[in-house]
Amino acid sequence: MDAKTCLKKLEYVGVLAFATVDKEGAPQIRNISAIHYEDNGIYFFTAKGKNFCRELMEDGRVQILGYTKFKEMIRLSAKVMPAAENEQQKWIDIIFEEYPYLYNLYPDDTRLMGGIVFQITEAEIEYFNLGVNPIFRESYAIGNKEIKFKGFEITDRCIACGKCIKKCPQHCINFGKCYTIEQEHCLHCGICYDLCPVKAIERRD
Ligand code: SF4
Ligand code: SF4
Repeated sequence: MDAKTCLKKLEYVGVLAFATVDKEGAPQIRNISAIHYEDNGIYFFTAKGKNFCRELMEDGRVQILGYTKFKEMIRLSAKVMPAAENEQQKWIDIIFEEYPYLYNLYPDDTRLMGGIVFQITEAEIEYFNLGVNPIFRESYAIGNKEIKFKGFEITDRCIACGKCIKKCPQHCINFGKCYTIEQEHCLHCGICYDLCPVKAIERRD
């Protein structure tokens, strides 16, 4: 799996949930389908007058979520920005060509007057597959976006008592002088964290 394949899978999902934060810091979520995919980024069209557009202009943070029929969750975390002014027409034309229903919504020159294309060329992508055994997760970056690791790790305070390994639902803890977690198979359930008698397990974030 890699970032490019994740984007391809999101393209197959089609309609994605976009989460933003409004001026009061409250979460807002919308479904967006007018998205053009490149190998290393996405471009999407929305109406200039929508609160969604205002939130993207003022804050810019967005999380995008897609879920495939194979139980794969793919989440992008990014800061969006409007596509370059002199490229708006180009991206609008590409997106309208791919989604012809938009011609009904914005005929003639109204698409440029009433709409805007945003781009995401730097993003963190989390891939989480619940349809395989053990589960599989991995994170990737588009552009220079930093990956923020989540979940748990076992520190050198581990006394190898074995309590965590017996209860791990994904059997993803390995024996050793210090036990270790196979991060790509970890559910982030926190059972090991709660069970450890010497608090040797820490949150990665
Ligand atoms: S968080 Fe859950 S799945 Fe991950 S290592 Fe601990 S017990 Fe196993
Ligand atoms: S429960 Fe804690 S001390 Fe025991 S093996 Fe697991 S990490 Fe190490």
